[in-house]
Amino acid sequence: KEIEHYAMPMKSIPEALNLRYMVLQNLEEAILKPSKEERAPFLSFVLVGAGPTGVELAGALAELRNHVLNKDYPELMKEEMKVYLVDFLPKVLGSFSDEGSKAAEDFLHKMGVEILLNVKVESFDGKEIKFEGGKSILTKNVIWSAGVMGVVPEGVSKDAIEKDNRIKTDTICRVAGSTNIFAIGDVAAMITEETPKGHPGVAQVAIQMGETTGKNIYRLIKGEPTVPFKYNDKGSLATIGRNKAIADLGKLKFQGFFAWLIWMFVHLISLMGGRNRVIVFINWVASYVTYNGGSRLIIRNFKREELVQKDEQVSKPD
Ligand SMILES: Cc1cc2nc3c(=O)[nH]c(=O)nc-3n(C[C@H](O)[C@H](O)[C@H](O)COP(=O)(O)OP(=O)(O)OC[C@H]3O[C@@H](n4cnc5c(N)ncnc54)[C@H](O)[C@@H]3O)c2cc1C
Repeated sequence: KEIEHYAMPMKSIPEALNLRYMVLQNLEEAILKPSKEERAPFLSFVLVGAGPTGVELAGALAELRNHVLNKDYPELMKEEMKVYLVDFLPKVLGSFSDEGSKAAEDFLHKMGVEILLNVKVESFDGKEIKFEGGKSILTKNVIWSAGVMGVVPEGVSKDAIEKDNRIKTDTICRVAGSTNIFAIGDVAAMITEETPKGHPGVAQVAIQMGETTGKNIYRLIKGEPTVPFKYNDKGSLATIGRNKAIADLGKLKFQGFFAWLIWMFVHLISLMGGRNRVIVFINWVASYVTYNGGSRLIIRNFKREELVQKDEQVSKPD
């Protein structure tokens, strides 16, 4: 609960924007601190969870430090900005192949990210993050990218709720115990022998479950037999930074520049609308050439403390 209160999540676009302003505001705040010790908490970024989101964020923050910090904040020393990536698993990108995971670790090391593996977070009070075993880091910036919880609407039977608030379904995505309610994507837990923990929380699962469920509902209406859902795993991609990505595509595995091209291609064609794709492509080319990912304007004053206070007021009974 305490970590949830103080750490920054990044599950939605508004949360990602909050995070952007928190990073920029804390860099600005650091300039005003006279001593290295006072600057340190504003310049230390701790990412909890070394899955694709944590790894991609660590890479992005390391690139901000390596290519942008000196330009935008000449008062700050690059070496003072620290990026930590923490996970209780023994490797980064736990769901990827060993070679992909090893390559990601090497890339991050070279970019100056400090990786803390086999380390469990104990607490974070907004000022200091503590790990099991006694180590701690003074920081204002803890970003939580470990695990997603489903949002279960009221009315779903408690018996149908699995770990992480996912809704138990049968093999046609029908909510356990119901005849005409379906759960698909991240919120669905289709527990079978093949998938004892359900399916991974990725877009492909949601898309494919959507397609199969649509067809099955039509079949049910027509009184035809339904077809069980079968996930077609097209592979996993993660980008770490300029020319650096990991691609695990079944037996084909790539790391580095080629994987990065695949990542860009897949993400570009997945965007909605041709205009969007062209604009994003132009922006990417401009960022690549200039080493500058756009303007870093602060257009809203984000204060985590205010959000926390609001949370507390809302949760207080009258
Ligand atoms: C930072 C981040 C990066 C990711 N990167 C990747 C990636 O690179 N590749 C990949 O495959 N996956 C990625 N994912 C995972 C991917 O986004 C999800 O697996 C996918 O969005 C799941 O789709 P969904 O439709 O199940 O759920 P969502 O996309 O979460 O959609 C659910 C929608 O339901 C709405 N909703 C919730 N409750 C209610 C309610 N009671 N009434 C009405 N509406 C409601 C929510 O507001 C939301 O809009 C990433 C996730 C995150 C957080």
